[in-house]
Amino acid sequence: MSYCSNCKQPISNEADRCPHCNSLNSKIDGILAKEAAEAEKNSFKGQMKTVFQADDKKQALLLQLKRAQQALTKEVLFTFFIVFVFIFAMTLTVI
Ligand SMILES: [Zn+2]
Repeated sequence: MSYCSNCKQPISNEADRCPHCNSLNSKIDGILAKEAAEAEKNSFKGQMKTVFQADDKKQALLLQLKRAQQALTKEVLFTFFIVFVFIFAMTLTVI
């Protein structure tokens, strides 16, 4: 079951037109809205929103920090790898 984007009444997923207001309801609109919501959820703003909306704010904040730390660690490791490869290549060139 989905909802009309115009009048917010529940409508069948198969219906192309809303039976309440007769406005077009394409499935693409629903998919786009879902993807936008997902992207919003994964953005920094969305993550902050999740923290503020959570019942246990401390727990939610810790979870988000943990997630950020994991992402940072991967990035830092990659940077170290690049630096290491660069130094290795330089050393080989000198020798
Ligand atoms: Zn409608």
